Amino acid sequence: MTSVFAMLSEEDILLELKQYQNWHQAYMEGKRREERPGLPENKDAPKYTSYALFGTFIHMLLFLAIEISGFLRIQKFVGFFSRLRISTDRFCYEPVSCGYNSAYTKLGLALLSQNDVVGAIRCLETSWRVHPCPHNTSFGLKRSLVSKLKGYPEASKAVAQYIEIGKQFVSWSEEWVERINKS
Ligand SMILES: [Zn+2]
Repeated sequence: MTSVFAMLSEEDILLELKQYQNWHQAYMEGKRREERPGLPENKDAPKYTSYALFGTFIHMLLFLAIEISGFLRIQKFVGFFSRLRISTDRFCYEPVSCGYNSAYTKLGLALLSQNDVVGAIRCLETSWRVHPCPHNTSFGLKRSLVSKLKGYPEASKAVAQYIEIGKQFVSWSEEWVERINKS
């Protein structure tokens, strides 16, 4: 379940988000490509295309395995395949990003369904430590685990922290929070 990368700090994430927001603002103002500020580079991205291709292939298989296990309600398998997704994250073309957030969300949900609340909270605390990417800045961080953990008093600190950082990822932050509260 552990990542090969050093955990991203909140400071690093906020800095990268600021760069994304600046780029978006310039884009909305109609500035041309060469006039826009640069987007942060994912320094953890694989150096070789073959790595990223291999990653796309195995992550597609793991995605299917997780979905089928979830459909069959075999949470142990959901947990197993999610851990595999996390441990092979370095092969992803955008490591420690949307896929990583999603895998920790799935793992946390699987642990929660097996009454491992402590494990699920740990997953939530790790899942937001990701690089901003076009997907998590458009759709926001995953909401399903935080929505479930809202009902557990012992998770309140981790829930508040996730919501606070998650709001920074999307310009429609109020609606994002509303959706967590509704589910
Ligand atoms: Zn992404």
